[in-house]
Amino acid sequence: MRLGKYSFGLGDRFAHQGVAQLKAVMKAVATGLDISPVWNKSNREHHYVHTEPASVRAEADHAVKELGFTGKYFVDADHINLSTVQPFVEYADFFTLDVAAFIGKPSSDEAIKAFVDSCQKYVGNLNIPGIDEPLNVSNELLEEIASRFLAATDQASEIYKFLLEHKGEGNFITEVSMDEVEKPQTPVYLLFILKMLADKGVKAQTIAPKFTGRFNKGVDYRGDLDQFAKEFEQDVLVIDFAVKEFGLPEDLKLSVHSGSDKFSIYPIMFEILKKHDKGLHIKTAGTTWLEEVIGLALSGGEGLELAKKIYATSYDRREALCAPYADVIDIDASQLPSIEEVNGWDGEKYANTLRHIPGHTDFNSNFRQLIHVAYAVAAELGDEYYSQLEKNAEIIGRCVEENIYDRHLKRLFNL
Ligand SMILES: [Zn+2]
Repeated sequence: MRLGKYSFGLGDRFAHQGVAQLKAVMKAVATGLDISPVWNKSNREHHYVHTEPASVRAEADHAVKELGFTGKYFVDADHINLSTVQPFVEYADFFTLDVAAFIGKPSSDEAIKAFVDSCQKYVGNLNIPGIDEPLNVSNELLEEIASRFLAATDQASEIYKFLLEHKGEGNFITEVSMDEVEKPQTPVYLLFILKMLADKGVKAQTIAPKFTGRFNKGVDYRGDLDQFAKEFEQDVLVIDFAVKEFGLPEDLKLSVHSGSDKFSIYPIMFEILKKHDKGLHIKTAGTTWLEEVIGLALSGGEGLELAKKIYATSYDRREALCAPYADVIDIDASQLPSIEEVNGWDGEKYANTLRHIPGHTDFNSNFRQLIHVAYAVAAELGDEYYSQLEKNAEIIGRCVEENIYDRHLKRLFNL
């Protein structure tokens, strides 16, 4: 099973926007690009929204049938581990093996030594085709990488074996993710992590490292763009080298867990991918849910009232809602509008404050990030929320489609 050159991860917390999301992808595909849509949902999201993995499969199949899409598409069991994978086995065909929790867990001295021994031919100045300066590989560095990542790659191997047994070889896409950590993995780390995966027989087709810089949810990248460009390009070249050197699947590509809306790095990534003729998987997180709230606000009446209620509840519970996302949001609470202020807004003002248009005078990234993490509030509203989604499906669908096509795909693929 192969993913295709480009694949685009779509999150849809409440499973109502599959058709609108696919419409956006199909518009980009119509320009001649090879893009596979991938609907991703993590165990954590299922937990908060009270849904089951079967619902994502049903949504994807429905959207594809409804629009007559004939390309490849996938359902991603996002950020699973050995203890959470089971319920996804039947419904997913893309598995994101999240081994971040195992980084730095101890490995035996023998295992570390064996790994370092197996890398002796790379010690010294290692030239990677396409990278100007050689990578400096020392035994100390190899020991450090082994002691930090052997346990994590062992874990990837455990989950992979489980999937081989329960799905069968060739029936699923394997991604290994290490992105939800504080410390980035530099290109030389990535190289030896890939060697470990190859050694253990994990046929990864995408790998999601932690890149340098902040990937906050629903807002733009924060960090040094030149440094990001350099790191991203080196990662692309390291993967190319690793595929040939270690015998990893030849379609192995980078996966960027973008947290959505990384507008400033989209053109940088695409330039580099074009230059080296490489593919990419990109996940866009759950900003589709924000388009639902924008659509509710724009629809006025009860929809707008509900959008205001969601903000008021989120504002009151902001500390609890933000806590699990501390590493991936930056909210300046002093910049959040008061509940009274928001209650006085019309739909346009609400939508403009939430919608991510860089430079728009009303856009407030603090407001946006708070709503982004507040989907549990909508989930608690249950039918009150779902009935408004259905009542205002048309306007919401337009917002979802426009967001994915105009703000993401157009920028990413220079359309
Ligand atoms: Zn991630």
